[in-house]
Amino acid sequence: MPNSASFISSDKKKEILKTIDVLSFFHESTLERLAQESKEIPLKPEAIVFNEGDQGSAMYIVLKGEISIYQGDKSLTSMVPGTFFGEMSLIESRPRTAGARALVPSVLMEISEAQFQEYFATQPRALMAIMKTLSARSRQISTGLASTTVSKAESGDDNPLQHAIPSLDEYYREVLVFHPQTFQFIKANSLACVGTGFTPEEIKQKTFIELAPNLDPKKLSQMCDSLINKIRPMVSFETTFIRKDESTYPAECKLQLVEPKGSDSEILVWVQDLTERKQMEDTIRQMAYYDSLTGLPNRNLLNDRLAVALANAARNQQKVAILFLDLDHFKTINDSLGHEAGDHLLQQVSLRIKEVLRKQDTIARMGGDEFIILIPGLTDTDHTARLAEKILDAVTPVFKIGDNELYIGCSIGISIFPDDGMEIKTLLKNSDLAMYRAKEKGRNTFELYTPSMNFKAMERLAVEKNLRKALDREEFELYYQPKINLKSGKIAGVEALIRWDSPELGIVMPNQFIHIAEETRLIIQMGHWVFLTACQQLKLWQKAGLPEIPISVNLSVVQFTHPNLVSEISKILKQTNTPPHHLELEITESVLMQDTTLAISILNKLSELGIKISIDDFGTGFSSLNYLKNLPMDYLKIDQTFIKDFNLQTNAAITKAIVTLAQSLNLKTIAEGVETEEQRKFLTELNCDEAQGFLFSKPIPKDEMGELLKSGKKF
Ligand code: C2E
Ligand code: MG
Ligand code: MG
Repeated sequence: MPNSASFISSDKKKEILKTIDVLSFFHESTLERLAQESKEIPLKPEAIVFNEGDQGSAMYIVLKGEISIYQGDKSLTSMVPGTFFGEMSLIESRPRTAGARALVPSVLMEISEAQFQEYFATQPRALMAIMKTLSARSRQISTGLASTTVSKAESGDDNPLQHAIPSLDEYYREVLVFHPQTFQFIKANSLACVGTGFTPEEIKQKTFIELAPNLDPKKLSQMCDSLINKIRPMVSFETTFIRKDESTYPAECKLQLVEPKGSDSEILVWVQDLTERKQMEDTIRQMAYYDSLTGLPNRNLLNDRLAVALANAARNQQKVAILFLDLDHFKTINDSLGHEAGDHLLQQVSLRIKEVLRKQDTIARMGGDEFIILIPGLTDTDHTARLAEKILDAVTPVFKIGDNELYIGCSIGISIFPDDGMEIKTLLKNSDLAMYRAKEKGRNTFELYTPSMNFKAMERLAVEKNLRKALDREEFELYYQPKINLKSGKIAGVEALIRWDSPELGIVMPNQFIHIAEETRLIIQMGHWVFLTACQQLKLWQKAGLPEIPISVNLSVVQFTHPNLVSEISKILKQTNTPPHHLELEITESVLMQDTTLAISILNKLSELGIKISIDDFGTGFSSLNYLKNLPMDYLKIDQTFIKDFNLQTNAAITKAIVTLAQSLNLKTIAEGVETEEQRKFLTELNCDEAQGFLFSKPIPKDEMGELLKSGKKF
């Protein structure tokens, strides 16, 4: 019985394991480990492996000999090297439904329950294959196909198939026997006849090559020789079979030697129709390698292609570009219009990007609204920047999703192999960092990775650590940027913009810390400080006799939805004695879209107080202006991305559309990010009300702002 000594050489064992279909999904090294770990069981003829009704928790692989599976005195089938049995007990803990005993001296390999779980649990495809075998077997038994009794083995006879031959129909697979020299079929079981469509008589007129025309006769001859000379116990290969009606099917063949007494050697071939398995493999491949929503390659396939691209590039001294692309404000669309609209948009975006790419480029979806574009075999990296521009241009035009017309930009970060990293992980990380920078720069733009970005990423951690102390240590300061009335050229108001002067980090800009303050909810206290400071400043300027102008303050979503917002603000207004119409709140579109009903009720309360409301960064998130009608609004601030590239036809058109619509809704318009005279002229002609930007003034400290107001300067 169980014995630690090996009866079969480990090479031969591995060879046999490789021919077993359910194990074919395992890596060779895994099979090696399994072969080494597993118990070998030598059996004398008539030795019982288990009886019907036994409890069992192992399956067995036949390495040598022949095992009969029987119920009562009826043999159901016999198992030869390269087959397995007993697997049922690993899946359900019922007594064995059949017995197993050796017909001739045999060797089994035992796979215990623990091993089964370890190996198969991590290999769903192997598990699936076992299930399929199981279900085929139980079907077989229930239809009684294998009801012939096998003659008992004569002891001492080591020939595995001698007894199985007369009753080929015992096999629940297609089995045929052919002549090793002529390849002419000698017989076939009924399943093989059903499978190929030939009658048993017709089959005998055929050769193996006629049924499997792709097979090379020379190779088949070699395989037969290796069996006859006992070099290998079994040979397996895949080929295509042709049926009588000339349809074809993929099949796996396993060849084994049979030596009938008194006649020449014959070769038995087990044929397994692989159609279903191939389909399953295709489905699995599709699932494993492609994104189901967009049909684009997913992370797995991208990794494969990246590995190939990097290896080729290294060999040919070429470069590879990796573009990390993230849609701007995608969450807003998903949250406001629903996932279906979001999904639809992702599909359209992927189509547009695909159109700009070459055949050898890959666009993969990494999940959410993140895509990676792989550009292999580059000699000139300039191409990458041009491509990034093309992608931005492709994504800019309006998307029609149902009844909605949406504009969505994207931010792209680029890293180049080998300049920015040698490994996939590094390159992806660096393109991500560059993408993050592109977002910071104002979205709808691309950015090439530079080593200093890694430094920036480290800074982010430092920001979080130091932000908590910043309020107490009074490290925040408000800067002010004037808003200019485009008709009069006079200062129409100021926007308060926070700055953080950190002793550890130096001057930190809001884009680098606002989102962290939001995540940690520090924004609540910080926002309170901003309101109070802005109102106090306004009072100071008024006391100094400067012109009375409104001051605007930015509000993040966390602040906006905070239950105490309205009471806090009215308290501050009273405390500083600020007339409510001197205070403006800037709220981004995305803030409003998160929960429209809640947003309307908050805005109503704020406007009842007399406070003015602007929608900041307008045009980047949501294009339907319909919902604005229901909101108490005073200003629309046109996002700077449209102004920055206003000579792009679409941006000019969008700006014009926003101004026109705002006018029809009785809203005033402010253009952000005005940097040139040309932009100013364009906006003035459009009848845009106000403008803000470096052309007039950067955000400046309170004293400078005081001076500017005092000067009464016209722009
Ligand atoms: P925002 O409210 O849209 O502010 C406009 C941003 O554009 C400011 O950046 C301003 O310095 C910049 N800017 C103004 N004119 C030009 C120009 O001509 N060209 C260019 N390229 N940029 C211009 P800043 O100060 O870095 O603020 C960034 C964002 O941080 C703000 O965008 C706002 O959303 C947020 N933020 C600033 N201060 C606060 C605050 O106190 N509380 C909250 N919750 N958010 C704030
Ligand atoms: Mg603002
Ligand atoms: Mg803005």
